[in-house]
Amino acid sequence: MTNQQSLAAFAQAVRFIPGGVDSPARAFGAVGGNPLFIDRAQGAYLWDIDGNRFIDYVGSWGPMILGHNHPAMVESVQKTLEKGTSFGAPTLLETRLAELVTEAIPSVEMVRFVNSGTEATMSAIRLARGFTGRDKIVKFSGNYHGHADSLLVAAGSAAATFGVPNSPGVTRGTSQDTLVLPYNDHEALLRLFETLGETIAAVIFEPVVGNMGCVLPTQPFLEALREVREVYGTLLICDEVMTGFRVRYHGAQSLFGIHPDLTTLGKIIGGGLPVGAYGGKREIMQQVMPAGPVYQAGTLSGNPLAMAAGIATLETLKKEDPYPYLEQISHQLADGIQNAAQKKNIPLCVNRVGSMMTFFFQPGPVFDWNTSAKSDTKRFATFFHGMLERGVYLPCSQFEAMFVSAKHTAEDIEKTIKAAETALAECSLK
Ligand SMILES: *Cc1c(COP(=O)(O)O)cnc(C)c1O
Repeated sequence: MTNQQSLAAFAQAVRFIPGGVDSPARAFGAVGGNPLFIDRAQGAYLWDIDGNRFIDYVGSWGPMILGHNHPAMVESVQKTLEKGTSFGAPTLLETRLAELVTEAIPSVEMVRFVNSGTEATMSAIRLARGFTGRDKIVKFSGNYHGHADSLLVAAGSAAATFGVPNSPGVTRGTSQDTLVLPYNDHEALLRLFETLGETIAAVIFEPVVGNMGCVLPTQPFLEALREVREVYGTLLICDEVMTGFRVRYHGAQSLFGIHPDLTTLGKIIGGGLPVGAYGGKREIMQQVMPAGPVYQAGTLSGNPLAMAAGIATLETLKKEDPYPYLEQISHQLADGIQNAAQKKNIPLCVNRVGSMMTFFFQPGPVFDWNTSAKSDTKRFATFFHGMLERGVYLPCSQFEAMFVSAKHTAEDIEKTIKAAETALAECSLK
């Protein structure tokens, strides 16, 4: 594989952009080497500017569940584009997408659109504090909720990868109101609430974690979340920015029987354009300005192009119901790679929910940040580059989830498993 063009492009980019990237997850810091610059994408494939083709398992870090450039999405955006790109006034598109979202996720009775997942969680936290009149929030280590100050504590993936659990610039005052607990530790959660329960506005959590690698919630943990909500009047904020419309159309909350007060969304609901959303119980959402006193705004919020991409994506998901197919090929992929690792005597722990999964280079089990961190990241780096060399584009960190799209064929999956057999052989040599 030649990457001369990407190397030159990166050298140029670092002159003008910190680290050459607009989001740290894109740099190859954790695996070594330089990022590939992408020219175009179609379906399950990416092409870099050197003309190499890759089977893509990053999917823009989650949004591309229908594959890149789905014709329905492209048509919807093109038609909308001809009418103008932004008006700063309401459009029919916003109501349509709101209708689709509230219909899909019953706990979301009303929804407000923003421009990113970060904005969604940041606004949901403000709303929870405004609604309850309490200051403190609880989050779980290794869960990522975007880069708002109060949430940038023990924040998983990129932050964890780069060893910056707390960013400089986040004041002690801000992080003091954020209490951090281990994920899936129901006892720690109940203990904390026994002393501080009455002061806690909200617990924010990923219903399936994607940002310390894929980690599933345990039943006792979900029960403890339900309990603190009922006993202490603390709001549950279910961060479905990654899992919403990914693990199933109705979200991870429907899969695991979670009844949150607020839900945050992003990624898939924008179909690849910048969209985030937060929503929930009518009584709470009515507190958002101008219906209520909690301020939140955005010049480009509900942007017509982004709404059009989101509407087409959700309507297509509803119509085509790719979830059974996604389950089938994702299962095939997970099994194939697990078997290949077994043959090479490489310990591998596979965590998966539907088309979202992580291959942890360790025996497992992985159920929280500490267990995830035990992974052999050197071995992962060798695997990553081995796969890249063979035309498979994986997330460039052990602590990220990878995604299968509805456009991945059984043949793509077989090719990926074949590539993994060779890449894993290289891992056992090193
Ligand atoms: C990606 C992600 C976010 C942040 O969304 P951005 O659009 O990157 O700001 C928040 N929460 C979760 C669970 C995510 O996966």
